[in-house]
Amino acid sequence: MDSQRTLRRRISCVGIGLHSGNKVRLSLKPAPADFGIRFRRTDIGDHEVPATVQHLAGIQWATLLACNEVSVETVEHLLAALVSMNIDNVLIELSSPEVPIMDGSAAPFIYLIQEAGVKTVAAPRRYLKIVRPIAISRGDKRIALYPSEHFKVTYSISYDHPLLRHQSLTIRITEDSFIDEIAPARTFTFLKDVEMLRQNGLALGGSLDNAIVLGETGVLNNALRFDDEFVRHKILDAVGDLALVGYPVIGHLVVHRAGHALHTEFAARILSETHAWRLVAGVADAVLSPALGIKAPAPELAG
Ligand SMILES: [Zn+2]
Repeated sequence: MDSQRTLRRRISCVGIGLHSGNKVRLSLKPAPADFGIRFRRTDIGDHEVPATVQHLAGIQWATLLACNEVSVETVEHLLAALVSMNIDNVLIELSSPEVPIMDGSAAPFIYLIQEAGVKTVAAPRRYLKIVRPIAISRGDKRIALYPSEHFKVTYSISYDHPLLRHQSLTIRITEDSFIDEIAPARTFTFLKDVEMLRQNGLALGGSLDNAIVLGETGVLNNALRFDDEFVRHKILDAVGDLALVGYPVIGHLVVHRAGHALHTEFAARILSETHAWRLVAGVADAVLSPALGIKAPAPELAG
């Protein structure tokens, strides 16, 4: 039987919010059994926002949660890092509404978790095991979960852009595979969208330091971290959005051309289709692994 896990100690860093461009302080704190993953805004009292589908408050380029009119946004990369490192219980403190964008990937959050260390707490972890398929289609977008012995993701994307026609990848998500193959993949955007966002007062913190930007004919950044970094980042987003289910999922997630809106709608659908899954304790897969190399700069820790 697997035990729940939390962080060994508190850890903090400072980054900027993608949309506001403002500095934000992020702290991750250990939490007791069955606490789950919750956000707390230190700038407006002690209100907590649990990271569950019940608190989804919208999608605007990123995933937004809210509770009692207190909101947190751009939560998906941090959530993906936490659940992939098998952290069940953690309090995330933010000094502003946005999780810092860091380098646009989940690698800096992996670094924070590894620096803090991980410990088990005396309570069993429960998994949501898919026993019947669940699927949603919206036009040519599709997302589905099928029974499988492991958590696997197959993602395919296609765009009308010379550098980004079609990419597809299947990967079994484990702590190690997530750290090496998915976490370093950065968010991407198209130059024409950046201009539109800026005109609307958004993406003020966006730069080539925290996103891959695709121009008409090429990538404006110097280099990609993977040839298929784009589809890897979509997997990162899907893993983070699926975290809102509130349990680690055992099943094969298959996604075609989706985004945060469909990912999160699907997370809610999973919980409502109670005949399609059951809660089980333990898959014997979760092993504490040593720190591995990360292809991204480490964030500067704050005291
Ligand atoms: Zn993303």
